[in-house]
Amino acid sequence: DTARSALDRLTAVVPDFPSPGILFRDLTPVFSDAVAFRAVVDALAEPFAGTFDAVAGVEARGFLLAAAVAYATGTGVVTVRKAGKLPRAVHRESYDLEYGQAALEIHQSDLPAGTRVLVLDDVLATGGTLAAACALLERAEATVVGCAVVLELGALGGRQLLAGRTVRALDIV
Ligand code: IMP
Repeated sequence: DTARSALDRLTAVVPDFPSPGILFRDLTPVFSDAVAFRAVVDALAEPFAGTFDAVAGVEARGFLLAAAVAYATGTGVVTVRKAGKLPRAVHRESYDLEYGQAALEIHQSDLPAGTRVLVLDDVLATGGTLAAACALLERAEATVVGCAVVLELGALGGRQLLAGRTVRALDIV
């Protein structure tokens, strides 16, 4: 399919970024190609068509995808941000990174209770980021209908942290 072949052709694989031993998948060439970006955005939304009222994107690359999917589907967009960026009352979730911890936040009152939300990010690795994003949305009384990512790093087993959730990846490497 168009999205998968665009990913194969355009994803840049970068050794030793951001630290030695990490093989980083850089999707910026996919986003900057007009045909590829549209194919990816449409493929992320398509399996969830009609099931969501808003799209949540995880800072920062998830924002690009979430805004595009929201616009294409006539839904709203929510920002799941790194700690300290949002000005009003937030929910916060800390989660483990490979080394250390990070925290994500959302505004407590951006969404009416029961809003059906699709959660988007570029890459699923260990799953900590998406699990925290889903937990935050549920604390804000949203209904998470699923998660969608462009690439899943299958060997890291990230789906275990997302057990019981619908998780779609356009490609698994
Ligand atoms: P996780 O929490 O381990 O699943 O990591 C996922 C988060 O780290 C996402 O927000 C990704 O943007 C980022 N990430 C992890 N590995 C990669 C990669 O190889 N390429 C791009 N982003 C990555």
